[in-house]
Amino acid sequence: MSKIRNFCIIAHIDHGKSTMADRMLEITGTIEKRKMRNQVLDQMDLERERGITIKLQPVRMEYSGFILNLIDTPGHVDFTYEVSRSLAAVEGAIMLVDATQGIQAQTMANLYLALEQNLAVIPVINKIDLPAANIEKTKKEIIHLLGCQPQEIILASAKTGQGVVEVLKTVIDRVPAPAEKYNKMAKSRSNGDWIDYDERPLRALIFDSTYDEYRGVVVYVRIFDGMVKKGDKIVLLATQAKSEALDAGVFKPEYKSTGELKAGEIGYIVTGFRDVSYARVGDTVALTKFSHDTKALKGYDEVKPMVFAGIFPREGNEFEELREALAKLKLNDAALIYEPENSEALGFGFRCGFLGLLHLEIFQERLKREYNLNLIVTVPSVAYKVFKKNGEGLIIRSPQKLPDPSQTDRIEEPWVSLDIIAPKEYIGPILNLVQEKRGIYKNTEYIDETRVILHYEIPLVAILTDFYDKIKSASSGYASVNYDFIAYRQADVAKMDILVAEDAIEALAMIIYRDEAFKRGKEVVVTLKETLPKQMFAVKLQAAIGGKIIAAERISAMKKDVTAKLYGGDVTRKRKLLEKQKKGKKKMTAHGKGSVEIPSDTFIKLLKR
Ligand code: GDP
Ligand code: MG
Repeated sequence: MSKIRNFCIIAHIDHGKSTMADRMLEITGTIEKRKMRNQVLDQMDLERERGITIKLQPVRMEYSGFILNLIDTPGHVDFTYEVSRSLAAVEGAIMLVDATQGIQAQTMANLYLALEQNLAVIPVINKIDLPAANIEKTKKEIIHLLGCQPQEIILASAKTGQGVVEVLKTVIDRVPAPAEKYNKMAKSRSNGDWIDYDERPLRALIFDSTYDEYRGVVVYVRIFDGMVKKGDKIVLLATQAKSEALDAGVFKPEYKSTGELKAGEIGYIVTGFRDVSYARVGDTVALTKFSHDTKALKGYDEVKPMVFAGIFPREGNEFEELREALAKLKLNDAALIYEPENSEALGFGFRCGFLGLLHLEIFQERLKREYNLNLIVTVPSVAYKVFKKNGEGLIIRSPQKLPDPSQTDRIEEPWVSLDIIAPKEYIGPILNLVQEKRGIYKNTEYIDETRVILHYEIPLVAILTDFYDKIKSASSGYASVNYDFIAYRQADVAKMDILVAEDAIEALAMIIYRDEAFKRGKEVVVTLKETLPKQMFAVKLQAAIGGKIIAAERISAMKKDVTAKLYGGDVTRKRKLLEKQKKGKKKMTAHGKGSVEIPSDTFIKLLKR
């Protein structure tokens, strides 16, 4: 165990974590040259297309006689849960800071998470190859933040590889070897003596999991005590689910069977579970024979989803497939929560909770790609607390559920503390923007002479929408943002219904501030006008509060004769088109109400306006 080092790379998004991991994989010869590609640990197509890390990814490397287990993590605030789970599995963290950007909001947020876990933190300045790198300034910021010595900060370029060997050597020197957390209870029962290493009861923390069609549930674990071998009878302490370890191994980064995992190691166990609800992140894997004596490891704090949206299959018969897909995705996306929801207009579906809009977007995209599902996603909303006149209290996660105003005493909405890091010349524009969004200014902290941290409190809804984009443009791209839930506070809000062709579209209903009703109503109908495809008939678009129309637009009808532009001869083609049109009409009438199809990305577009 003294030869093992477990560590993460933490940083703000784009500061070079995944690229640093690439260089480490090369230097340690973990991945063959011909298989190497940029950000090789970003394995999902979605990650590669968007150039961001969404999932944590462990990999085991060997270097000068040591085993180095690295977990690469995402940087975006919506995926913080991936970071905090990774940090609980390791002893050290490399804090990477982009020399052209300096300390940013997620650098700090993730650093605090690492410090909470008592991890050894190794500060590294990255991208020193860039002409715009400001090493001295970045150094000062890091010293200010960590209180470390200048010589402790490593200068590196994940692109050229400069300094990366030094980073690896420092990991070996400064990250403590894993220490076994003896399971005291079990130990005293057997007189405090262990017969041999194998008999020390296994305790493995599940920090992630996935579902494999062939092998069932595979859990990603950090072994804290004892060991697990292929064939061992295992139990998960929280769910009491029992099975056999069908295999165990390490990440290279692909699965590499070793048949066993020992204390201090990071790897995977093939559990044989088919029911995905058995394996929860934060649960402890133990050996069945010791299960009564084994105390569970401290798991994880429960995630608090911030944004909710209804997800419904477009075709009613895909409900079961959606349920299965959600269960499997949940296994791989521990921050996701969901419960069944039934809607008159949309049928059976699920109300899902997310950490933010990007999380929702990615999730929706994964359902589409990985499970081939055609979905309707309702306008996302935060959770409101409703206090009724009869004293009843409710939590409302969908606008449709908001009780009638005549029954409502008051409504509360979630507020967050908001930290914005920016060069001080942008304080003015940022101040204006945050004020416009109902933010309350708290105070200003100086990182150094040129950059500040602005502390605010603000309603969560205000930052869900277009806030990031606006902050970026208000600061020429220099500002970064982090937030944290603080409390529920009173809000003057109402439900706005959206009517398309005189039908209230349940999925489009949203909760809005009363004093913004006209503006929001207008925005929505205009957005709809721009995004909805033309129909055979003219379509009225209306926004209403409590039955009163507050904004309206109209989409004119599509040209009737679809064959008009075909001249002359091609009769078959003409006939085909006419038939198609007939079919289309049938489909519309079959739908009866709500005959206008709303494309699913419209809902996110609406909120982003
Ligand atoms: P992550 O979000 O922290 O994982 O960052 P990535 O590793 O995905 O890198 C973000 C971008 O910065 C990519 O375009 C990288 O090629 C680039 N990058 C990373 N490290 C360096 C570096 O040391 N020098 C330069 N010039 N670019 C870098
Ligand atoms: Mg990355």
